[in-house]
Amino acid sequence: MYKTEGIILRNTGVKDKDVILTILTKDFGKKNIYVRSYLDPKTKYFGRLEVPSHIEFMFIKRKNSTYLLTGLEQIRGFCDMFYNPYLYTLFSIGSEVTLKMLPYEERNELIYKWFKWFLYFLNSKKMEEYLAVYLIRFLYLSGFFPIKNRCGKCGKKNPLYFTVSGLEIFCIDCVKDGKRFYPSYVLEYIKRMFEKDFLKKIQFKGIKEVIDFLILFIEEIVEEKILSYRVLATVGK
Ligand SMILES: [Zn+2]
Repeated sequence: MYKTEGIILRNTGVKDKDVILTILTKDFGKKNIYVRSYLDPKTKYFGRLEVPSHIEFMFIKRKNSTYLLTGLEQIRGFCDMFYNPYLYTLFSIGSEVTLKMLPYEERNELIYKWFKWFLYFLNSKKMEEYLAVYLIRFLYLSGFFPIKNRCGKCGKKNPLYFTVSGLEIFCIDCVKDGKRFYPSYVLEYIKRMFEKDFLKKIQFKGIKEVIDFLILFIEEIVEEKILSYRVLATVGK
């Protein structure tokens, strides 16, 4: 029997009324947990295991090496998030990146700590900034930061405009066509986000470009689209 706390990233129906939860846990990394009869209104867990609930739970390892939920206490449900589609989409971006990039069963308490921080503080005036800081922390803790600030072809430092390809940046003189270009302040901003109390100090107009760059960078890593980011443009704030 194991016990830990975690945040539900995904809830997928399987057969009958069973579901598989993908949970970012404090002590065991990202984990899939099987729940029997969850979709039956008579079960004691009904409605308490929705994304993005913060829960404390118990589970056992079954003979076939999968895990089964055996006990639950909901710490906070965050169901109010559904009433704000823009906020929920921002959360979904952070969650989708975590789902796609983080390997299973790899314990990383700092990633858990930052994801929890992101979930609890996202509903504020600076919601885009909170997403950006989470993505930067996540990339850093996953070993992808810092990004080199020199053009991968000509070596120019801090180019005025740059794009990203294969986890390197390229200045506008070296890559003429194709991808989006970003102004140099995007990299400067990312660097400054590691400063203490950075979010309290600054309100930043270019935050959307920072997020756009981070998503492009992440899509280069996972080699697929972050779908919830495509949705963001269609959701009004
Ligand atoms: Zn160059």
